[in-house]
Amino acid sequence: MNKKEMKKMKKELSYENRNGWINSDSYKSEAFQFAEIYKDFLSQCKTERETVQFVYNEFTNRKKEGDFLIVNRGKNIALIRVGKKDGIKLVASHIDAPRIDIKQNPLFEDTEVAMFHTHYYGGIKKYQWFNIPLAMHGVVVKENGESVEIKVGEDEKDPIFVIPDLLPHLSHKVVDEKKVKDAFEGDKMNLIVGSIPIDKEEKDAVKLQVLSILNEKYGIKEEDFISAELEIVPALNPKDLGFDRSLIAAYGQDDRICAFCSKEAFFNAKDNSKTIVALMIDKEEIGSDGNTGAKSRFLMDVAIEVLKAKKETVDFESISNFFRESEVLSSDVNGAVNPMYKDVHEKDNASYINHGVVMTKFTGHGGKYMANDASAEFVSKVRTIFNNAKVNWQIGELGKVDEGGGGTIAKYLASWNMDVIDCGPALLSMHSPYEISSKTDLLETYKAYKAFFED
Ligand code: MN
Ligand code: MN
Repeated sequence: MNKKEMKKMKKELSYENRNGWINSDSYKSEAFQFAEIYKDFLSQCKTERETVQFVYNEFTNRKKEGDFLIVNRGKNIALIRVGKKDGIKLVASHIDAPRIDIKQNPLFEDTEVAMFHTHYYGGIKKYQWFNIPLAMHGVVVKENGESVEIKVGEDEKDPIFVIPDLLPHLSHKVVDEKKVKDAFEGDKMNLIVGSIPIDKEEKDAVKLQVLSILNEKYGIKEEDFISAELEIVPALNPKDLGFDRSLIAAYGQDDRICAFCSKEAFFNAKDNSKTIVALMIDKEEIGSDGNTGAKSRFLMDVAIEVLKAKKETVDFESISNFFRESEVLSSDVNGAVNPMYKDVHEKDNASYINHGVVMTKFTGHGGKYMANDASAEFVSKVRTIFNNAKVNWQIGELGKVDEGGGGTIAKYLASWNMDVIDCGPALLSMHSPYEISSKTDLLETYKAYKAFFED
């Protein structure tokens, strides 16, 4: 065999994934344009409630005849297009992201500084949240049921909030010498909210000043925080990253990058013959519990509404059939290999930035515990769809065996007897206040979901 033949053979027989930027200039401009729409979406959707509202509004403008949606408690949304043929295609993402929540009795004063107690939400590296500009988003529901929306820190003229870190000069003993996981205590993650006393003599005069400002601006009093959901998120807007602008730095890309791609794929999918659903779920980052998480029976509502729209009988058997016939992309992100920490990955099964959308057959940790493990048959089906549509894809496992791991909503969806595989782009610095994605991976993820819907 000569060199040329050998080369040909290698190309035919080997699995290789490739960098998405080897494409033409027109590809690059398509990816860059798509990224602009995505960055705008991210800047307007920093919480699950805001995402549902945004998608709801967009649906009204972009829906096709017969499309409908279901919203669950303002935190889940399902976009549905009923097809004529049997079979259901779901792309399911989550729209909550790691953040800092405000406690129910948050306001206190110490050393004449007014602060909010917080409780972090999801898996964060706490040190990343000290001394960065933070914004407050959420709702306060008053005793009479009136809901007051609060959004501070996003407008150029708005104030921001900060969790103050300790100066290096004095942090040797209390912070620096400890293990990182012990050095930053959740209980010390308090947010500065004010420092002017309302009066010279009054006790807790700074706290009272903050209460009076809040009362004037929002008509709320201290007890109203008990029934509030206020989320602290980075007051940072999405930006292009790098001289070549190939990457995007932004908060909340796990997993709103998949939510974004799934809704774009839904709206742009050619009329096809199967039923398609873009599903956006809450509470993934804290274990998928609760009535808006993937473990809730909201999926049952989706099944029932589809059956009703198809004028089919709604009974135990038809619901069971609905789920058994469903094929699902659990659309969530993977962790891309960080060039400085390659050792936590096994290179042949890791996912790489710019190398396309990632198919993750199983998640979980050591020994495949807590994993959805997609069947070979279903993986074959999905890879064929992607290959036919010329989607740039790669396989990915989250870290070396025994290194750690993680889960997604895949296993909860699979428990309904649906075929499920994880599929989404790989991020750098996942769960940080400023996560990194790639513009080619964004485009390929969209193309993958669209091809899946159109199959
Ligand atoms: Mn995720
Ligand atoms: Mn996550």
